[in-house]
Amino acid sequence: MKAVPALTEHPSSADLPTTMRAARFDAATRELAIRQVPVPLPGPGEVLVRVAACGICQSDLSQLDGHIAPRLPEITPGHEAAGVVAALGEGVRNRQVGDRVVLAAGKECGDCSECRTGGGTDRCEDLQVMAFHYDGAWAEYVLTAAVSLVDVPRSVPLEHAAVLADAVSTPYGAIDTAELRAAESVGIWGLGGLGTHLVQLARICGASPIIALDPLASARERALELGADFALDPAAADTAARIKEITAGRGLRAAFDCVGRSTTFAQADAALGHRGRLVLIGISPDQLAVGREIHFVRNRHSVIGHTGYRMRHLEDLVELTDRGRLDVSGSVTAVLPLDEVAEGVRRLRDHDGDPIRILLAP
Ligand SMILES: [Zn+2]
Ligand SMILES: [Zn+2]
Repeated sequence: MKAVPALTEHPSSADLPTTMRAARFDAATRELAIRQVPVPLPGPGEVLVRVAACGICQSDLSQLDGHIAPRLPEITPGHEAAGVVAALGEGVRNRQVGDRVVLAAGKECGDCSECRTGGGTDRCEDLQVMAFHYDGAWAEYVLTAAVSLVDVPRSVPLEHAAVLADAVSTPYGAIDTAELRAAESVGIWGLGGLGTHLVQLARICGASPIIALDPLASARERALELGADFALDPAAADTAARIKEITAGRGLRAAFDCVGRSTTFAQADAALGHRGRLVLIGISPDQLAVGREIHFVRNRHSVIGHTGYRMRHLEDLVELTDRGRLDVSGSVTAVLPLDEVAEGVRRLRDHDGDPIRILLAP
């Protein structure tokens, strides 16, 4: 047994239960059920985290609906988690039992050319993603690599930290991908979890003007409250003309498509101005077309796919939240017990209550 620091208010690994409740997804039957499973033990370089909160994400639905090919016959979903360190594996020196942490959802494969030459988690070509390649955090405990954790100060509630993982860090990473600068015009298509946070982050990064687009009036209203300068209905007949007018005829410098359907893509692409960049974040099975070739080339447009985030993005967001620059309190739509995971999944799937993030508190 590894010695843990004598912090009596925190459990040592000796106090850990041997079994826990976890939501288990069976890829063959597509059944999601709460089961009693063994509490995993941390191996070398690993940490066991007692989960305080874990989000339900659109990409979890993609797995539950079979749109993402299963890697394992049975898995615990959930990749947007924060909690408290409960046990340390061998060789973990930078962590203590009781640390409040948010989990990055990636682990290096250890085998690709980047990993073999010391590229690390951020450069790995075959990143192993929590809840897809290995068990996630719709469970009382989750196992992760010690290097995949970011400290959460006491000023930041663990529910907010869980929202930062993916739902905020992925759009924040996308802003980096777009190389967005202050005073650049921005269009954001789709104002769910990703797009709503993109509005807030684009504001922090100084984008101007920020145009938010969503067919739902309530989502547009929310975007205006969170920092959008304009909110448009993408289905309105004059949307393209309005974007031209708002940008004084120049078109957008950057567009973010958080939906990824052929319709949103085509509209965002057509709204780009000279040297406009269109960053695709949403996931859909659609085929996409970039319109007239000569228009694309003459205007030097770019279309860039974006997924995930780097450790630095998660660290930045904890910092911004700690200082009160970023407030995600409005993003916690509901916190449900683990037993109600099916209800949480239903609410997200049906857009019931227009949720940004529904969290599970196992
Ligand atoms: Zn997610
Ligand atoms: Zn790798």
